[in-house]
Amino acid sequence: MIEQKKNFYINGQWIKPSKPNDFEVIDPSTEEICAIISLGSESDTNDAVNAAKKSFFAWWDTSKEKKLELLNNLLKIYQKRSLDMAKAISLEMGAPKDWSINEQSQSGEDHIKTFINQFKNFEFENYLDQEKGNYISYEPIGVCALITPWNWPINQIALKVLPALAAGCTMILKPSEIAPLSAMLFAEMIHEAGFPKGVFNLVNGDGPGVGTQLSSHPDIDMVSFTGSTRAGKLITKNAADTIKRVSLELGGKGANIVFADADEKAVKRGVRRVFNNSGQSCNAPTRLLVEKSIYERAVKEAMEVAEKTDVDIANKEGRHIGPVVSKVQYDKIQNLIHEGIKEGAKLVAGGPDRPAHLNKGYFVKPTVFADVNNEMTIAKEEIFGPVVSIIPFSTEEEAIQISNDTAYGLTNYIQTKDTNKAQRVARQLRSGMVEINGVGFADGSPFGGYKQSGNGREGGKWGIEEFLEVKSISGWE
Ligand code: NAD
Repeated sequence: MIEQKKNFYINGQWIKPSKPNDFEVIDPSTEEICAIISLGSESDTNDAVNAAKKSFFAWWDTSKEKKLELLNNLLKIYQKRSLDMAKAISLEMGAPKDWSINEQSQSGEDHIKTFINQFKNFEFENYLDQEKGNYISYEPIGVCALITPWNWPINQIALKVLPALAAGCTMILKPSEIAPLSAMLFAEMIHEAGFPKGVFNLVNGDGPGVGTQLSSHPDIDMVSFTGSTRAGKLITKNAADTIKRVSLELGGKGANIVFADADEKAVKRGVRRVFNNSGQSCNAPTRLLVEKSIYERAVKEAMEVAEKTDVDIANKEGRHIGPVVSKVQYDKIQNLIHEGIKEGAKLVAGGPDRPAHLNKGYFVKPTVFADVNNEMTIAKEEIFGPVVSIIPFSTEEEAIQISNDTAYGLTNYIQTKDTNKAQRVARQLRSGMVEINGVGFADGSPFGGYKQSGNGREGGKWGIEEFLEVKSISGWE
């Protein structure tokens, strides 16, 4: 069944686009159309911006208690409809059923809970110097454009909408046109939770259309963007004339440094991490750096993981990976796999084309390249598919040098039982996040990158601070 999802959520209502401009949403497991949305035009963008602008002062002025009541309503509604959310994500971007329920959809609920707690304890006003009467007030930046990608759709939306609401901002969400269904369901939840009209608006559209209109709009105070470094550069340029704040969460090319004294599960854990979500995670440890003395063993283990990773349609039960999101992504990944072979990397698992048991859908074989050097295209470019590149190293200094020799700086990984070495290396890695020995980050920790991985920090108190201005007032009694 093809769902008709052509309306936009503006000023508390679902309304028809001002001009018809249909766009087909494709189920990547089947390559069939699963929904029709509309791409907005300038007049839809302006309507949404006006609604957000009009509701700004009243929302800022709304008490913390009332905001918390609405956020808690949202949490309850989300929990009630979390399976619908998982289904929407499976359909629009191919996340396997179990993965979609336990990871993709769950991430939305987790972020709502975490931000409610952060917001409860967040102090928006305090003295810098009580004797001198110097007072600091943290105030919402204003009307925000939130532009999100398709790979972790509700995760990215929750990481922006929740802190923006808590900060007192009003907003226009433009989700990825490739995966808009989860965002539209989220808008229904916001409506049901009872947020005042105009506080949250959703307009579908593409980058050259609504994305560009929002980035350059004179009444938008901030753009919070997650997506490719390519689009991040264009948004920054478009926002320059109106000096908007631009917060960017962009791509990555993480290194996973496996020293010879790493625990015996380290290599397999790292390779699975890349294959999860079909390789479509900005923080995936796609460059596997292995100390030479354990290199042969590591290559064999990586190959075993690839061979044991099942690939199948989203609707199949159990543990497997799904398709990649679109034909564009499929073709890009295939080209990079061919490039790896051409440049002399050693293909030890997977490779070009679909797995043999699948004759349609955007499925990529879990692929491992060994004997990669950091100058090769597959070590430089973000592939965004289930492809691991193994690079040998001899010394700690060399591992650090290779890890940092990239345009990106999102997440790096270290595997060693030597605590001093782990901490020494962690300090020298130029990335916003470093994970040691597979230990996950606590709720409310900051997420973001250095260099061309972006300039923002999402999550926790940092996520709320992104949406605030700082006012310094003297002579305060
Ligand atoms: P994309 O940049 O093509 O699209 C992302 C969003 O930006 C979409 O909503 C799209 O319509 C919009 N967009 C595209 N061009 C635009 C323009 N010129 N102006 C305004 N908006 C524009 O990225 P994608 O392919 O959807 O997502 C994958 C990318 O996202 C990867 O590079 C990945 O690493 C990155 N990502 C980063 C993080 C992070 O937090 N660092 C998280 C998830 C994904």
